[in-house]
Amino acid sequence: MLKPSSTLFFIHTFGCQMNQADTGIVTSILQDAGFERCGDEAEAGIVLLNSCAVRENAVDRIGNFLQQLKGRKRRQKALVVGVLGCVPQFERESFFSANPFVDFIAGPDTYRALPSMLDAAMEGKRQSRLEYDHDETYAGIDPVREGRIGAFLPVMRGCNNHCAFCVVPVTRGRERSVPLRTVVDEVARLEASGFREVTLLGQNVNSYRDASGGEDFANLLNAVSQAAPGMRIRFTTSHPKDISEELVRIIAERPNLCNHIHLPVQSGSSRILGLMRRGHTREEYLRKIDMIRHHIPDAAITTDLIAGFCSESDEEHRQTLSLLETVRFDASFMFYYSVRPGTWADRNLADDVPEEVKKSRLQEIIELQNAISQERFREEVGRTVEVLAESESRRSASQLMGRTETNRAVVFDRGRFAPGDLVRVRISGASSATLVGVSVDEE
Ligand code: SAM
Ligand code: SF4
Repeated sequence: MLKPSSTLFFIHTFGCQMNQADTGIVTSILQDAGFERCGDEAEAGIVLLNSCAVRENAVDRIGNFLQQLKGRKRRQKALVVGVLGCVPQFERESFFSANPFVDFIAGPDTYRALPSMLDAAMEGKRQSRLEYDHDETYAGIDPVREGRIGAFLPVMRGCNNHCAFCVVPVTRGRERSVPLRTVVDEVARLEASGFREVTLLGQNVNSYRDASGGEDFANLLNAVSQAAPGMRIRFTTSHPKDISEELVRIIAERPNLCNHIHLPVQSGSSRILGLMRRGHTREEYLRKIDMIRHHIPDAAITTDLIAGFCSESDEEHRQTLSLLETVRFDASFMFYYSVRPGTWADRNLADDVPEEVKKSRLQEIIELQNAISQERFREEVGRTVEVLAESESRRSASQLMGRTETNRAVVFDRGRFAPGDLVRVRISGASSATLVGVSVDEE
């Protein structure tokens, strides 16, 4: 085996799309400073962990991972280990003292300092950088991206909401937005370099505000869709209390804005939504759904759900199930509640739903959602949809996998097509998570 090199780094990324985008930013910063990313961790002299603190099980997974790294560091004294992102930002110095083998920790606003932190670590100095920088958007850094078809592009960072269960306002600080011009130029540049799809990212994209011109997210989407007419444009995440009719109208009007809205609801009970401090009721959420479907009848709507939040009764759980039946989401990310230390819920509410009840409620939610997703998938059979081919299908080299505008996965015979092509596919069948079809040109 090759001796690990002190300039080669390997990054493990946990968590959301924002973390994946941040890994691209970190990679770019380090490569500009003369470090080199490597694909084989065993060759790397530097191992970085970009961490996620949103749910307890994500933090536990990172804890297990750190134990393995600790063993490796014992055998390989020169190995430099750095932990980035939300876990150290959340746990602060206690994380550093609990993990003495970690050479440095860096919060999400401090990545420009990483090269100097690595230099210091190589001289044996431990460092923690956890300061917030409310102006940092990493504008001007050209992230290193995986693949050449779809790209993530953060347009805002941080969150000013105060959802009772959530650590993000602590781990990622106050909201700040990338200037509209910078976003528009970056999307046009992505299009010119061959990318076919971009996902604009923010914890609450509806709070986007250009600091100088005052443009909002609807203005940004409009500008981006006009600047890159050949690209599919997606965005996430919208907050139900803030999503506006104007924004939905623009999505309906502009052909390259994907008809897919991710609108986390968390619970179907207005009382629980109040305790969660989400800023809307069940009825208000349903009115937003009606408004979206009025303007975009075929919109795909997806959501996030939390089972077993503090004091949730059986009846309130059933209200979540009934909301699923009413809305018929295309898909959901579903979790059971885990208390996060220091959050409003931790300080003010009892985590009193027993774990086995949380898990069985989650299971019921998953089973119902899977049945609904399957029904919605079956409704696609016989339709012709436009698919952006992304890659070879995992099952067969003679098939491609791609996604519809509504973000459904479709597998079809490759024929003369290649990843990156837009293909019209007639849907002939559906499994629980994938549609199967035939290109209409090949029929
Ligand atoms: N900004 C987005 C929003 O407001 O909808 C969500 C961001 S959060 C990183 C992603 C999802 O994780 C949330 O929508 C929620 O469903 C889930 N989540 C956050 N904190 C949680 C907790 N303490 N326990 C369980 N799930 C949690
Ligand atoms: Fe967390 Fe709420 Fe902000 Fe989403 S909107 S990141 S759930 S505080």
